Amino acid sequence: MSDHYDVIIVGSGPGGYVAAIRSAQLGLNVLCIEKCGSEETAILGGTCLNVGCIPSKALLDSSYHFRTASSDFSIHGIELENLKMNIESMMSRKDKIVSGLTSGVAGLFKLNKVNTLMGEAILQDSNKVLINLEDGSVKEVFGDKIIIATGSKPIDLPGLNIDQEIILNSTGALRLKKVPGNLGVIGAGAIGLELGSVWSRLGSNVVILEALEEFLPMADTQIASEAKKILEGQGLEILLGSKVETAIIENNKVNLSYVNANEKKSIILDNLIVAVGRKPSSEKVLGPDLGLEIDERGFIKVNEFCETNLDGVYAIGDVVRGPMLAHKASEEGVMVAEILAGDGGEINYGRIPSVIYTHPEIAWVGLTSQEAEASGIDISSGVFPFQASGRALAADETQGFVKVITDKKDDSILGVHVIGPSAADIVQQGLISMEFDSTAEDLGLVMFSHPTFSEALHEAVLASRGNAIHIGNRSR
Ligand code: NAD
Repeated sequence: MSDHYDVIIVGSGPGGYVAAIRSAQLGLNVLCIEKCGSEETAILGGTCLNVGCIPSKALLDSSYHFRTASSDFSIHGIELENLKMNIESMMSRKDKIVSGLTSGVAGLFKLNKVNTLMGEAILQDSNKVLINLEDGSVKEVFGDKIIIATGSKPIDLPGLNIDQEIILNSTGALRLKKVPGNLGVIGAGAIGLELGSVWSRLGSNVVILEALEEFLPMADTQIASEAKKILEGQGLEILLGSKVETAIIENNKVNLSYVNANEKKSIILDNLIVAVGRKPSSEKVLGPDLGLEIDERGFIKVNEFCETNLDGVYAIGDVVRGPMLAHKASEEGVMVAEILAGDGGEINYGRIPSVIYTHPEIAWVGLTSQEAEASGIDISSGVFPFQASGRALAADETQGFVKVITDKKDDSILGVHVIGPSAADIVQQGLISMEFDSTAEDLGLVMFSHPTFSEALHEAVLASRGNAIHIGNRSR
């Protein structure tokens, strides 16, 4: 292996590995560097594959099956006796999925002739990278271009001892060996709601403590309030305006103190999950005299093309501004690879879809009603409840609705918001139509298969124009 490459990519998460594969496809000689070996950072695939999206979805699905089998089958006339849960098998299924996918990335690297080095990279200048290899030796490599894709890590709360046995972060919460009786979760973001749902479905009494007064402030308010109602109905206790101050481990339990409405309160828990956000992993990768600009929170500063202030050095994914989402990182990886290969590329940052994998899913793209109204746009909205969907009734999945927001001026679709069955896939259909600049009328003219959950999108779009068939239309 020569020490010189067209592109050196630091990090092999969904940003880095996708950038590596796309760069190689475009004929560039690529090196991807990944630090390996620690428990938290297994070989290739980064947070998403190893300790994020994939293992959490595996547990969300297993726990959902358990919950349905224990409480929802009877409505279908299915009776089960002696239902049991085997946490060990559940965890090993999850681990098998993770190792299958991470070795899949290694296979894709081989197929695309992406070179890999395992070790910790430190940028020395715009072309030189020093790697502390696993065996303790140091290696220098040179790249015409460099892409930093080092991701993010969980934020710790000051004074909290995350021992990964009793007090856990999102990584430890995927590895619990038994179902906690009383489980606390700090933070009602995507991680808190997803992990809280997993353990609640498996039998824990879950209390989620959220510092903000508002639930899911980034979502459309109508969706957020429906989500809170549904999740509370599933048994999650959600305490808004509750700022956690201390959590002390005493006799293998957690004594947690928080402040709610200026009143100090405390609870005793068997386990506590800390899900108060993630921070960029930028500090170790930047050499001392590099001169690469970061902001006050540690994010590497980039423009819309992910260029840093250093010529030829790019940064993508969680380590730069924007939502910390795998698909955003991957698209930035593709964009930068195509720019480097001379093809050019861009991302529409206004149309990044969001999904929270509770059941039902919560998903959205584009403007919320409150954002559209704040920017002075005269909007029309169409809402279709799954209660009126034949497919949803047949599946006993009638909670939630689809909401489509359009601009009254030109009928363009500004946002699609869904809580309900297949929400992520329905939002994706809305996003495709938005990307092709279709109006609500255009989407309304598309034929949707019957019976499908997607028909709710069709009806919501029709409702935005006062033409819904299966619900009454509001006068516009
Ligand atoms: P988040 O920032 O979305 O939510 C953390 C919450 O913790 C905030 O609402 C905050 O107000 C609250 N909080 C902070 N300090 C607190 C305290 N002392 N007491 C009580 N509440 C407190 O972060 P997250 O849920 O940890 O997720 C991290 C990142 O990972 C996010 O960018 C998220 O979008 C991403 N992620 C996405 C998905 C998904 O797309 N499904 C899943 C997991 C993670």
